Amino acid sequence: MAILASKDRSVRPVPKPAAEATWQAEIREAVRDGAELCRRLGLPPELASQAAAAQFPVFVPPSYLTRIKPGDATDPLLRQVMPLAEEEVVVASFTTDPVGDQAATLHPGVLQKYEGRALSVATGSCAVHCRYCFRRHFPYEEAPHSEAAWDSALRAIAEDPSITEVILSGGDPLMLVDSRVAMLVGKIADLPHIARLRIHTRLPIMIPRRVTDALLETLAGTKLTSVMVIHTNHARELASDVAVALERLGSAGIMLLNQAVLLRGVNDSIVAQRELSERLVAVGVLPYYLHQLDRVAGAAHFEVPIPEGKQIINDLRQQLPGYMVPRYVQEIAGEANKTVLA
Ligand SMILES: *Cc1c(COP(=O)(O)O)cnc(C)c1O
Ligand code: SF4
Repeated sequence: MAILASKDRSVRPVPKPAAEATWQAEIREAVRDGAELCRRLGLPPELASQAAAAQFPVFVPPSYLTRIKPGDATDPLLRQVMPLAEEEVVVASFTTDPVGDQAATLHPGVLQKYEGRALSVATGSCAVHCRYCFRRHFPYEEAPHSEAAWDSALRAIAEDPSITEVILSGGDPLMLVDSRVAMLVGKIADLPHIARLRIHTRLPIMIPRRVTDALLETLAGTKLTSVMVIHTNHARELASDVAVALERLGSAGIMLLNQAVLLRGVNDSIVAQRELSERLVAVGVLPYYLHQLDRVAGAAHFEVPIPEGKQIINDLRQQLPGYMVPRYVQEIAGEANKTVLA
């Protein structure tokens, strides 16, 4: 018997999601105010910093809100989205462009830092605003907004046959509607030297209903090898409806990887990392990277010192199978690859 067939995911009936309108309704219903976020979770409204929210607005979709523990200001899911006064603390080494994105711009909306891979900033919007985000100061006005702008961005990729993989990132590329995603994937697949399409997204986590039939058809139907890197930092983000969405992606033949950021107060312990890896593998996702925090202004309180991160990974390596241990990496501006720390 084939190894792949031994898993019963192909025979279990997988529930169908509602239409595209439904996930977009979740975007419209997102909480966009710190005090409102506190009110919904039974927390004192002064916990939310208005000054921090003015720098980078609050944005939390309802589905994610249901996974946050009410009344707990230290909840690891809450910490990722709550604007705190600590963001206002100025730390000199934390800057607005910590990873050298400006220097790596190949064309407006297209970055190339690494051989063979071009990263396209598909859109500036996201389904959640992560307080530690390294792109919180990125000039998203430069992202292509029209089909003509897309064509010109893709021409830059078309002119370089050494590029074999297109990475759709952002922002979050799955904020685009399905017809846009299909148009884009079609244009990318038309470039003869592109073999792989990689999508970096938090949408299956934030709004699991984003995994629509139309999206699956596009990703399964292209001649490109489809890889999706979901961004999950904590096991509790992977609720049962998220697991269903991931199962649908996996069943459609899309390779699923996770990338997390090591964050103080969120996942900075061996237990949290172990639970994350175990839950990821249970829902069909391989842990790929654990990122050292990029030193973006406003995020210093999230930083975990590198020796501590190395210790966590080394402990994890003793406790888990090798494939369940993510590579602990750091992005150093100007380097030819992400630097492996452990
Ligand atoms: C991280 C990153 C990639 C992908 O790197 P991998 O090590 O292949 O995951 C590609 N382009 C840019 C601009 C990146 O920041
Ligand atoms: S989803 Fe990604 S790009 Fe968007 S705010 Fe979160 S970390 Fe930043």
